Amino acid sequence: MTDRMLRGGVLKGYFDFVLSEHGKDAWQDCILNTNINPKDLKDKDLYPEAYNIDLLTCISDQYGLEELRKVGNYTAKNLGGLAHLVRFANIKFFLRKAKESYEETFPFGKVSVLTDEFSKNASVIFKDSNVIEESCVAWLGAFEGFLEVTRTKGTVEKVKCQVKGDEYCEYKLRWE
Ligand SMILES: [Zn+2]
Repeated sequence: MTDRMLRGGVLKGYFDFVLSEHGKDAWQDCILNTNINPKDLKDKDLYPEAYNIDLLTCISDQYGLEELRKVGNYTAKNLGGLAHLVRFANIKFFLRKAKESYEETFPFGKVSVLTDEFSKNASVIFKDSNVIEESCVAWLGAFEGFLEVTRTKGTVEKVKCQVKGDEYCEYKLRWE
């Protein structure tokens, strides 16, 4: 587990979320509780997975697990690497790019996007990626965010969860 690292940009995004949704005091609490200073984080640098776990857990401790859905949604909409792709407005293209972006951002675990040219649905599978339920809920919100930014009317359902004992985490996206 020692080499499980992720990019600082994601962590900074969590702090931005707390600041914009819950204000400066909540943002300060987050810093105190995790001992992570967002000002020290660099977008492209890699940080231990423990930072991710501590921050997400801190948010769920304060606001409940469902809050992570909003965190994921916020992150999906604000990640610089993806924002410029919105103009393509095609969920399948976006999911492929999201996989590349994922591998760049979280260089551990494995994500697979299963879809084909004709179907209006996709399965996204995470293997050895999520270790806490908070991450799983955040991804649910992230996929909902991807549908929104591509102006796709659809739903996301979490059908399997490795944290809860399944072989992997799986999300089903369906759209019109
Ligand atoms: Zn899961």
